[in-house]
Amino acid sequence: MNEIKNCPVCNGTEFKPFLSAVDYTVSNDTFNIVTCDGCGFHFTNPIPPIEKIGDYYKAESYVSHSSTNKGIINKLYQRVRKYTLKQKVKLVKRVGNGKDTLDIGAGTGHFLNACQNAGFNALGLEPDADARKFAEENFKANIKSLDELHGLPDASRDVITMWHVLEHVYDLRKDLDKITSVLKPDGRLIVAVPNMNSFDAKNYKEFWAAYDLPIHLYHFTPDDIKRLFAQYDMELEEMLPMKFDSYYVSMLSEKYKGGNIVKAFWNGWRSNLKAKEGSYSSQIYILKKKGN
Ligand SMILES: [Zn+2]
Repeated sequence: MNEIKNCPVCNGTEFKPFLSAVDYTVSNDTFNIVTCDGCGFHFTNPIPPIEKIGDYYKAESYVSHSSTNKGIINKLYQRVRKYTLKQKVKLVKRVGNGKDTLDIGAGTGHFLNACQNAGFNALGLEPDADARKFAEENFKANIKSLDELHGLPDASRDVITMWHVLEHVYDLRKDLDKITSVLKPDGRLIVAVPNMNSFDAKNYKEFWAAYDLPIHLYHFTPDDIKRLFAQYDMELEEMLPMKFDSYYVSMLSEKYKGGNIVKAFWNGWRSNLKAKEGSYSSQIYILKKKGN
């Protein structure tokens, strides 16, 4: 395990224990989240070394998960995904006219495919070779290894998207330096992450599935996002809810807690009902360079 010595947001060195939670998906080991004394940011500490983190991702591959179409939950999942893909494409079109788009952590390429179908010039980067292969074979997607990120030309992309990716990034500073440089000066960065200020995070506490230890390294609030990106001269332009995430996260959280699906839907619904701006289960942040 690697001990994090400096806060990923403010570089501070003093932390307090915040919460311990079990990895219910793979290892059943317990991991810890700490709070930074300096800025209040929450992050997993210690973390598995980067060469071991792959062991903590679910055994069944993303590929099988994304292509099966059996069972009511899976059917529902497919329908929700179709709808949310449409919404995401609409958003990219609105903030960037659908021009040069870069999707970081493109996975099996469903979003990339939707972008390509909408006529965008879309490139995806993805660390997992199997996921890339799926995207290439099924969608003829323009998808490359994540290692290519640091070779991309600066100021070359109108829109960069990171859908539930930022919480997984190991070298946050190095990668954000590059990502914010690849963005055109008047471009938009779209970041979606779970929100630990949400009703369902507070309701489920250590069972909240979106803590997802140890593969979620960071546990953001809207204020953390503002503080983090201010260091790259970026500001928050707009915040949007991801209303389906509360149902999905509540379902998983109830499973870990030994609860049932009725409770999951009830809590997912309550989470959205109680949410005000900035307190949805997962949120989309639209960031732009200052003065643009
Ligand atoms: Zn800090």
